[in-house]
Amino acid sequence: MRLILLGPPGAGKGTQAQRLVSKHRIVQLSTGDMLRAAVAAGTPVGLRAKSIMDAGQLVPDEVVVAIIADRIDQADARRGFVLDGFPRTVPQAEALDRLLAERGLKLDAVIELKVNEGILIKRIETRVAEMTARGEPLRKDDNAEVLKGRLDAYRAQTAPLAGYYQAKGQLKAVDGMAPIDDVTAAIDRILSGQPAAKKAPKKAAQKLTGKAAKATQAAAKKKTKAKAKPAKAKPAKAKAKARKSGSKKTAKKAPKAARKAAKGVKKGKSGRKAGAAKKTTKGKSVQRKTKSRRRLTKAS
Ligand code: AMP
Repeated sequence: MRLILLGPPGAGKGTQAQRLVSKHRIVQLSTGDMLRAAVAAGTPVGLRAKSIMDAGQLVPDEVVVAIIADRIDQADARRGFVLDGFPRTVPQAEALDRLLAERGLKLDAVIELKVNEGILIKRIETRVAEMTARGEPLRKDDNAEVLKGRLDAYRAQTAPLAGYYQAKGQLKAVDGMAPIDDVTAAIDRILSGQPAAKKAPKKAAQKLTGKAAKATQAAAKKKTKAKAKPAKAKPAKAKAKARKSGSKKTAKKAPKAARKAAKGVKKGKSGRKAGAAKKTTKGKSVQRKTKSRRRLTKAS
């Protein structure tokens, strides 16, 4: 698995990277850590980078690209890696694409931790105050002033990377201000290909898969049934309406419609019955005629 964690300083990339390392048995490649190690070891790269880092600015692209090229060739990176703090500029991203292509490797995802800069600055101010109160040593670049400079550098040079990876269809965003475990869970969901948890209103629309979907289907069925009810049901309704409203016109109309509908249904259902009824009527009228003739004959 090969990943990039994007996000401004203080967004929690390091914490999430460590969790990904233990979960997926990959290595964390943090250019910041490597540069600090180089500074501590007093290597030529370290000597060159020290003052730039202390000022919160970015070390030249070719320096960090060379460090990463060496690192991804090492045996422990073969299973995969999570890049933390690299790339930080579009030229670095392009260089990474070339490095990976040359080795026949691909990125699995680029995850951006979205944060609120104002809250980040407050957090670092609190942390610095607490560490100072405890008498703990502070990193030279660990103060609100330097953080503001690093955030400026992020906005100007690193934020465009979101567009770069978005255009390639590799970018996934996560709310970096959420509790650490929630951020981890959101990243896990992305890596396992599950859909992201959506906000409440969207959730409701999305949830139409389980019970809600069944209820909606049932309601739709009911509607269709009501529409498809036979004609005789209509007059009954009209009757009730007429009774309720007391309108004579409607009341008169309803039985007529009911008879018509009932006749239609009868005819449609059994033509024979209808025919039989006709015969009986005919028979009665013939009988009546015969009776009256008999009366006439009696009288005469
Ligand atoms: P970090 O620990 O990732 O915040 O990095 C600390 C400092 O190292 C940054 O403020 C930069 O000066 C330098 N640095 C780390 N990664 C890069 C990079 N990819 N490109 C340029 N400078 C970097």
